[in-house]
Amino acid sequence: MTTIPRFDTNEVFNQSPPYENIDLFSSDLPLVEAVKANGAGDAAATLSAFGRQWGAAEMFSLARRANENPPKLHTFDPKGFRRDVVEFYPAYHDLMRVSVAGGLHASTWTSTGQRAAPPAEVVRSARYYMTAQIESGHLCPITMTRAALAALAAAPALLAQVAPKVVTTSYDGTFKPWWEKPGITLGMGMTEKQGGTDVRANSTTATPMLDSYSITGHKWFLSAPMCDAFLVLAQAPGGLTCFFVPRFRPDGAVNALRLQRLKDKLGNRSNASSEVEFAGAYALRVGDEGAGVRTIIQMVQLTRLDCALASAGFMRMALAQAVHHCRYRSVFQKHLYDQPMMRAVLADLALEVEGAVALVMRLSRAFDRTATEPREAAYARLVTPAAKYWICKTAPGFIYEAMECLGGNGYVEESVLPRLYREAPVNAIWEGSGNVMCLDVLRALKRDREAADLFDDMAREAAAITGEKVQLLEAGNEFESEAAARITVGRLAILASAAALQASAPAAVAEAFLRTRLSNPHGALYGASDIGAKTANLVLQRALPQE
Ligand SMILES: Cc1cc2nc3c(=O)[nH]c(=O)nc-3n(C[C@H](O)[C@H](O)[C@H](O)COP(=O)(O)OP(=O)(O)OC[C@H]3O[C@@H](n4cnc5c(N)ncnc54)[C@H](O)[C@@H]3O)c2cc1C
Repeated sequence: MTTIPRFDTNEVFNQSPPYENIDLFSSDLPLVEAVKANGAGDAAATLSAFGRQWGAAEMFSLARRANENPPKLHTFDPKGFRRDVVEFYPAYHDLMRVSVAGGLHASTWTSTGQRAAPPAEVVRSARYYMTAQIESGHLCPITMTRAALAALAAAPALLAQVAPKVVTTSYDGTFKPWWEKPGITLGMGMTEKQGGTDVRANSTTATPMLDSYSITGHKWFLSAPMCDAFLVLAQAPGGLTCFFVPRFRPDGAVNALRLQRLKDKLGNRSNASSEVEFAGAYALRVGDEGAGVRTIIQMVQLTRLDCALASAGFMRMALAQAVHHCRYRSVFQKHLYDQPMMRAVLADLALEVEGAVALVMRLSRAFDRTATEPREAAYARLVTPAAKYWICKTAPGFIYEAMECLGGNGYVEESVLPRLYREAPVNAIWEGSGNVMCLDVLRALKRDREAADLFDDMAREAAAITGEKVQLLEAGNEFESEAAARITVGRLAILASAAALQASAPAAVAEAFLRTRLSNPHGALYGASDIGAKTANLVLQRALPQE
């Protein structure tokens, strides 16, 4: 434990030591148990090594430095020639190197671009959840790279060339053609000025050439623009189509991606998000003309899982910081941790994270099995948008409450909380914003009998937990009602979390979660739920075991 230094004028006491040099895996019992319940218990030792690596003080320092020194766009060189490159601070590259070495960008794929055997998804999700606790900006290209192969499956010949370059553990941040690099990263461009949700309104055009297409138009958000290639939507003669747009043309010349400027963002500051114009850019088609949305949605389904994972990770880190601090900080001769009201707040926060981590790991298991088990595929279709909606929208308010547990220290930049707080909203906005996720759930419930049955099954399981009948919908509301969609999807997320908890956590945790989140109205703010002293002790001890 770090010793607290003596000052010339005062002795520093009653402060918590830094929360670093920890094992992010073994110190997190809900995670350990969720990993085990979802088929990856054998990976515990390697996950623990990963947890120690990312929980080291040096990783916290890299994260801070990468965010204090945001990337810079160099549009031109000193002589006026276009450069269109973004320069990242070295700490960003260091984070990328460690994440790529850990397989976060590719470990769910084989080198031929096929899905890796279970429990590859659960293991990667556990790693991703831990990494997001430390630094999330660099995870944007990591997420897009791992997800892109799902869309590239629509272009098997291209996939065969690209997959071996993705499925490596070598990160190469230099600006050169993708085929000359040992390892590459991939991004995506869908959103245009006139619409991000409604991508069918894309105005960017794709003109067929001899053996490629020429892309002309723009994207209003193109994150991680130093990726080696992007999956981009554009209007081809046959309709909206997905394209592979590399940073370099096959002859080695820089492709015509003109980076206009970088967004000045609320958070996510280590990552660059650009506005780009395509001035006749070289592109290869991925999938049929007109099948753009169907093709890229394969990728988006995976990025949505990562949004939920990352937001659950943010909540976990905020909770751990709060519990850790309150165990050391005394107010009125008593540790904050033992003050009844603070305990109620911390236990409520811990219960929220219990539900979130159980849900994302259960969902990851569904991704592991979609290819072989239709019911798991239905689960992934239904629960992915629900989990993204619920967890990503819960995170900002959650982090704010955790921040307050640290008092003034929590509001100060050097504590991790302000960065987590600024980072959190973006996960709800990108990859399909909140309402759009709810519409997605409604669509799945309406079109997919298996998904609707799953909803009913979860309600039955929940009834078994509480001993009461669980009402799925308010009287008078139908699944189809868009106006009531947030109520339906919120319930689905709670039911799915409780069902997941039942499989991975002590029964009392699942019961308290369901009782305080569904059966009895949960207070508008954390700490206003009647969890009960025994369960409160249990979840707090599970959140951060006391030595
Ligand atoms: C930091 C950052 C980085 C990004 N990086 C990328 C990137 O790399 N590539 C990329 O393609 N995009 C990227 N985006 C864009 C992002 O995906 C879009 O902003 C998002 O999809 C929403 O689209 P929009 O901004 O056009 O909002 P709109 O589509 O205008 O939506 C605005 C609001 O309306 C709601 N809404 C939409 N339809 C309905 C409806 N029918 N009923 C009720 N409510 C509705 C939405 O939920 C949303 O809250 C990025 C965004 C951010 C903030």
